[in-house]
Amino acid sequence: MGTTVLVIGAGYAGATAANRIAATGAAEVTVLDPREEFVERIRLHRLAAGSGPATVPLDRVLDRRVRTRAARVTAIGDGEVTLDDGDVMRFDRLVYAVGSGGGPAPDGGHRVDTLEDATRLRAAVGGLADGAVVAVVGGGLTGLETATEIAVARPRLAVRLVTDADVAAGIGDRGRERVRARLRELGISLREHTTVTGPADLGADLVVWATPPAVPDLARRSGLPVDDAGRLRVDDTLTSVGDPRIVGAGDAITAPPGVGFVRASCQAAVPLGTAAARTVTAGLAGRTAPAASIAYQAQCLALGPGAALVQFVDSHDAPRRLTVGGRAGALVKEQVVRYTLRAVRGRAA
Ligand SMILES: Cc1cc2nc3c(=O)[nH]c(=O)nc-3n(C[C@H](O)[C@H](O)[C@H](O)COP(=O)(O)OP(=O)(O)OC[C@H]3O[C@@H](n4cnc5c(N)ncnc54)[C@H](O)[C@@H]3O)c2cc1C
Repeated sequence: MGTTVLVIGAGYAGATAANRIAATGAAEVTVLDPREEFVERIRLHRLAAGSGPATVPLDRVLDRRVRTRAARVTAIGDGEVTLDDGDVMRFDRLVYAVGSGGGPAPDGGHRVDTLEDATRLRAAVGGLADGAVVAVVGGGLTGLETATEIAVARPRLAVRLVTDADVAAGIGDRGRERVRARLRELGISLREHTTVTGPADLGADLVVWATPPAVPDLARRSGLPVDDAGRLRVDDTLTSVGDPRIVGAGDAITAPPGVGFVRASCQAAVPLGTAAARTVTAGLAGRTAPAASIAYQAQCLALGPGAALVQFVDSHDAPRRLTVGGRAGALVKEQVVRYTLRAVRGRAA
C-alpha cells in the first residue's frame, strides 16, 4: 500500500496543503470535507446580503491528483480517522485544517461564518420589510463587511453596528476615521465601547453576531492537546504536540510565538497550509522540517460594493501609516481575493 496523507477540511489551509503535497508525488492525498464546493469565506458577507456567490467547484481549486471524499470526520484515532458514514480511513500523515465557525448564534440571532450561516442570513434579510432594524454586533472586519454590504443592498433598512471596543480596532487611526466616515455616508449608526449582554439591548428585528467564531471541537474530542478554545496545539513546524503524524494549519491551530501571530484569516491560512505541506513532505522523506513563519502585508476591508479600505501593516500585522480607500481600495481588495484563490491552487505569481 502507498503512502497516504489525509487532509481534514477543504478550506484555504487544507486545500493549499493538499495541492502542495500532491504536487510532490510523495503520497496519495485525499481531502475529507462534507462539502463538495470550495467556500470563499471572504465573500460570505456578499452572499448574506444577496449581492454575489461565494462558492467555487472543488475541482477548480484542487490539483487533479488530489482525491476527495464528501464526509465529515467524527474522530481522530491512532493512525486512522472515523467518518460520519461509519467508514474508517488509515493515514501515514494527517493535516488538521477544520477552520472555524459552525456554532449557533445566541438567542435566535444570525452569524455569517459558514455557507449555511450566510445562506440563512440572506433569507432573513430578504424577509425584512423596509424600515426594519438590523443590528450587527462586532466592529471587526467581518462585522463591518456585513453591515456595509447589507446597508448598500437594502438602503431602506436601519443598520446599526455595536462594538465593545473601537470600531476596526486592528487598523490605524487614519484608517479608522475613514471607516467611520463611510459608515456615516451609508447611514449606519455606530455605537462603540458598548457591551451587548443579549438581543434585548439592541431593539432590533434581526441581530447578526459578528464576534470571533468558535473552532470545531474535533481535536479536543479526539484527545489531542488543545488550548482553552479547542485549537490544536502545534510546535514551530506545525506538528501536533500530541502526535507526530498530525500537522495543523489555519484558524483551528494555536502555534508557538516563533511562528508569528496567527490572525484568523486567509492571510495566515494559506502560508500555514504551505508550511504544513513542507512539514508533511519532509517527514515522509525522513528530513527535519523547517520552522513555519507568517509575515503580514495588509488588511483589506470591504465597505460595501465599490468601496474598501486597504490598511498596510508590518510583518507582525501592526498598522503602518499607509492606507488606500474608496474605489481604489475596492479594486485592490478584489485583486487580493482573486489572488488568494490562485495562491491556494498554487498558481499565484
Ligand atoms: C464574512 C467573512 C469575511 C472574511 N474576510 C476575510 C478577509 O478579507 N481576509 C482574510 O484574510 N480573512 C477573512 N475572513 C476569515 C477567513 O475566511 C478565515 O480565516 C479562513 O477561511 C480560515 O481558513 P481555514 O482553511 O482555516 O478554514 P475554512 O476556510 O473555514 O475551512 C475549513 C473547512 O473544514 C471543513 N471541516 C470542518 N470540520 C470538519 C470535519 N469534522 N470533517 C471534515 N471537514 C471539516 C469545513 O467544511 C471547511 O470547508 C473572513 C471570514 C468571514 C466569515
